[in-house]
Amino acid sequence: MRKTIVAGNWKMNASKDFVDTLVDGILSGMSGVSSEVILCAPFPYLSQVETLIGGTNLMLGAQNLSAKPKGAFTGEVSADMIKDFGVGHVIVGHSERRSLYGESNDVVAEKTKAAIDAGLTAILCVGESLEEREADKTEAVVAEQLNAVISLVGAGAFDGIVIAYEPVWAIGTGLTASPEQAQSVHAFIRNLLANSNDKVAQKIQIIYGGSMSAENAADLISCPDIDGGLIGGAALKADDFLQICKAG
Ligand code: PEP
Repeated sequence: MRKTIVAGNWKMNASKDFVDTLVDGILSGMSGVSSEVILCAPFPYLSQVETLIGGTNLMLGAQNLSAKPKGAFTGEVSADMIKDFGVGHVIVGHSERRSLYGESNDVVAEKTKAAIDAGLTAILCVGESLEEREADKTEAVVAEQLNAVISLVGAGAFDGIVIAYEPVWAIGTGLTASPEQAQSVHAFIRNLLANSNDKVAQKIQIIYGGSMSAENAADLISCPDIDGGLIGGAALKADDFLQICKAG
């Protein structure tokens, strides 16, 4: 039985006051939540969130990391640095990193390896653009994204990874994949992994991201291969986020 995960991706939205209020609101509504809940904060706020969630069930995540372990890489942040602040999960390959910062499948694979090597759980994002979906290339694109990582780390290493299927056309747009559309890609991902390692494929948590909300979360998460959500906009409002956490 796979446990449901709900991860909030705050992106570049925070201030000290905002973080205090948001985390306070989430903590005060956590009773009755059985999902694993991860807060993926921007780097400067990791320490603040680490303190606020200390001694609770909430887990801390980061939104990016360097593929390099240390050294002369101005502006970069390594796996060991985020671990120093109690981070256990790190988002890798978010579509905004791929499209706005040119992260190729190979770079994403390197970053995933850096996370695994450091003992972090990578939340590996994959997903197709609208153009690719309309050209019937969804499975080919997702397979290529996953195969780049499998080639570098091996399917066995997916034991320590969470996959987030995030159709690019659904991120921040208010357009959500239907439960049927999402379930079909989640099942494809699980089958792809099963071809290399069935044990890992059955165990791995595959979460959906793309305009998941308090209204649609339960229908998505009740699909057999959807094990939770990666939440952007709705993770910035404690009540909405908690309703999603309770949908799992
Ligand atoms: C995301 O950024 O990962 C995301 C899913 O955003 P939103 O929920 O706002 O679509």
